[in-house]
Amino acid sequence: RTILNNIQELPGDALFAIKQRLAEDPRSAKVDLGIGAYRDEDGKPWVLPAVRKAETLIHSDASFNHEYLGIAGLPALTSGAAKVILGDDSSALAEKRVVSAQSLSGTGALHIAAKFIQKFLPGKLLYVSDPTWANHVSIFESQGVKTATYPYWDAATKSLDLEGFIKAIESSPRGSVFLLHACAHNPTGLDPTEAQWEKILSACVKNDIIPLFDSAYQGFASGSLTNDAFAVRLGVKKFAESAPIFICQSFAKNVGMYGERCGCIHLIVPRQESNVNVSTITKAVASQISKITRSEVSNPPAYGAKIVAKILNNAELTEQWHKDMVTMSQRITKMRHSLRDKLLELQTPGNWDHIVNQCGMFSYTGLTKPMVERLEKEHGVYMVASGRASIAGLNEKNVEHVAKAINEVVR
Ligand code: PLP
Repeated sequence: RTILNNIQELPGDALFAIKQRLAEDPRSAKVDLGIGAYRDEDGKPWVLPAVRKAETLIHSDASFNHEYLGIAGLPALTSGAAKVILGDDSSALAEKRVVSAQSLSGTGALHIAAKFIQKFLPGKLLYVSDPTWANHVSIFESQGVKTATYPYWDAATKSLDLEGFIKAIESSPRGSVFLLHACAHNPTGLDPTEAQWEKILSACVKNDIIPLFDSAYQGFASGSLTNDAFAVRLGVKKFAESAPIFICQSFAKNVGMYGERCGCIHLIVPRQESNVNVSTITKAVASQISKITRSEVSNPPAYGAKIVAKILNNAELTEQWHKDMVTMSQRITKMRHSLRDKLLELQTPGNWDHIVNQCGMFSYTGLTKPMVERLEKEHGVYMVASGRASIAGLNEKNVEHVAKAINEVVR
């Protein structure tokens, strides 16, 4: 009867606690800038038109059913997903050096990567950016993979600490894994430029790093899926002769499939010098990933996978999806400008240009923890304690209220 007595209660997840407090807040003017989920101009979740059309097609198909998928997931999803991130003309795909498997969204892909690293790259350190998505460390540490950080955000200049980043690559133990945000960095909204990616990835090749790209926001940085795959595709090219690359891909944000848990893990095998040929390696890797999936979820969820696969394999729906991405990213960009301009009008102390210079869903506002607390308490404006604001939560109706609230707390 005493077996469970020593279990300590942990504090709740900070992000989901915001959601809870917000739901309990009776004020009508409350604003949710917490969770990274797209909202339309009425502050409502948005079902993408491409998704609605895909659902109609799926449900009108007489053969639709709820059978289990295979362990590696829906082939139409995994092959389409690989093309989205690697490009139709990818030499890695043409050379059959890509192993793809479906996962429980981006988190599940990271979890499979963590298990794989723990098993086949034992003792390797995994480096994450400082700061990074809070769950990264939890996911890898839960599988026994030790983590370290690399400098990323220079708070004083609100820009990339490229020198610190490269130094960390150069001083890391050989064979370390670097987790790189493919685009729309969470939480800072700050991405390396193409020239900076060149330097970062060249340093990675030179120092025997294994890159792990986390691609949770493809399309959100620029509105273009191709532009937002720049870093991944450059990495795949640069590492073709040297080391494997992990890609953890989520369709939560860019297809709005949040709760359906649709994602993929791709592992790119380098060209081989040894007498073990690529197909032997890809088969072995695929079998090991399947073993991980089988023991943990048996097989991945089917519904979201069928929707995304339909979008990726039907030209009309793909085109609609690309338009939907533009709709989402443009609305967010517009709100960035609107917030910055209103802060300027109010002559709010400080420089707010970073709000428009950052990309993706988030802005790392630079607001301090006490300011964030006051925003919530006095004004009903909710954001993460680090000062990260989900710009998708802004709209024409609430942006003025948010600007005035920020103006008040920084003075
Ligand atoms: N990676 C980053 C950087 C994220 O911000 C998120 C979600 O917020 C994820 C991965 C995983 O998201 P999901 O598991 O919903 O696909």
